[in-house]
Amino acid sequence: MEKDLERLKALRTIAPMNEILDHAEVAALAEGIGKAVLGETITQVIDDYRKQLLGDKSFAASMSHLSRQEITLHLVQELKDKLDAQDSTCLKKLINATGIVLHTNLGRAPLPDSAIRLIQEVNEGYSNLEFDLETGNRGSRHTHIEPLITRLTGAESAMVVNNNAAAVFISLNTLAKQRDVIISRGQQVEIGGSFRIPDIIASSGCTMIEVGTTNKTKPDDYAKAITENTAVLLKVHTSNYKISGFTEEVPLQDLVELGKIKNVLVMEDLGSGCLYDLSKIGLPHEPTVQEVIAGGADLVTFSGDKLLGGPQIGVIAGKKALIDKIKKNPFARIVRCDKSSIAALTAVLKLYMNPEKALAQIPALNMLALKEADLLLRAEELERQLQAALGERCQVEIVDVHDEAGGGSLPDVLLKGKAVSLTIDGLSANRLQELLRQEPIPIICRIVKDKVLLNVRTMSEKEFPLITQTMQNIVG
Ligand SMILES: *Cc1c(COP(=O)(O)O)cnc(C)c1O
Repeated sequence: MEKDLERLKALRTIAPMNEILDHAEVAALAEGIGKAVLGETITQVIDDYRKQLLGDKSFAASMSHLSRQEITLHLVQELKDKLDAQDSTCLKKLINATGIVLHTNLGRAPLPDSAIRLIQEVNEGYSNLEFDLETGNRGSRHTHIEPLITRLTGAESAMVVNNNAAAVFISLNTLAKQRDVIISRGQQVEIGGSFRIPDIIASSGCTMIEVGTTNKTKPDDYAKAITENTAVLLKVHTSNYKISGFTEEVPLQDLVELGKIKNVLVMEDLGSGCLYDLSKIGLPHEPTVQEVIAGGADLVTFSGDKLLGGPQIGVIAGKKALIDKIKKNPFARIVRCDKSSIAALTAVLKLYMNPEKALAQIPALNMLALKEADLLLRAEELERQLQAALGERCQVEIVDVHDEAGGGSLPDVLLKGKAVSLTIDGLSANRLQELLRQEPIPIICRIVKDKVLLNVRTMSEKEFPLITQTMQNIVG
């Protein structure tokens, strides 16, 4: 009986909708999301609160002591939490403290300033996306990148599609539909979930002919498998794993020779579109697009947002006659890329005209090139800022870590890195990691040996005040 009275009292103390809408903090929310959505959300919050009162006696008892203003405050907080929860699923900026440079789940390559500017310029107004400024006639969206790619790689021609998966798909569909594609067993790559080379070959309408074994494939294996029905010898760069030990792969040049003799095309799926010789920055050499073209491949396909450091895009480069055919495939419309990616790729490729500029201005390359000494300076700066802001409750320390290229690139390369390790009194590492994920600008980090680590390679110093502020929010 008494419990029912408490419940009744709490139910009666709910302020009417208008009063909640007029609350100063709520009025400010209306600016952002509009009155209608706000009203609906408040109705939901009040409904949920009523249900909770009716279903949970001890909750009702605890609320029955509160004044109308206090209950309104409680409801306003619930409202803000609900709106935050809805907002947290939307796409937004975050800070990558994992040390994984091309983190596929975190959007792969960050773009250089010049790319962001060009994206903005072509989006805030109109552009010559498909307009030929010389003739005044209709143009093609491929023309913007074609001269850049051909100059940078030596290819005769080039086109762009939505991503590299689409590039492989449309190339095979155009050149080898209902015919055979020969590939080494050792190169049947899977790249995260739904991209598996055998599936892509099948869905592009081709028959896959496997040759060799997992560890060894020889020129003769290809030669023996070629028939009248063979259209393409496909080489796939095993970008995200390494086969080591007793192994043998057929070099591109040998495939090209064989292709010439037998009159079949040779195509390489390079994965990462590396245009910069990584050995110049102390990393293992990765085959570049230039090398594949110089090696005589008829076609090469690669991603824009892996080691190239650009937007999500797929580039197909190679013989003009083949590219012209692919452009006419009806699928070209289905896999075409939008003006923002073309703008970003254009700006990134322009930087590659001067390799030093590319290294300095393309964030992915720049992060990969960072040396331990640079990283130590960065880590010391972050440590200093965190220490100054957080004081006693937080222990900050610089530790050695291994960073990674990520994005299925350089699979066996561990980059020597530095991280700031954090311990906060009264907070477990798991809880801290979770709280950092829930902040308005989340910080994504790893836990090693029960400590939260902030790897500095993938963060810029511009982000440090934000990181410090976020930590203050959590600790405060
Ligand atoms: C990453 C990768 C792909 C897929 O490229 P997306 O641009 O992510 O579609 C295809 N092939 C290889 C060898 C790759 O490494």
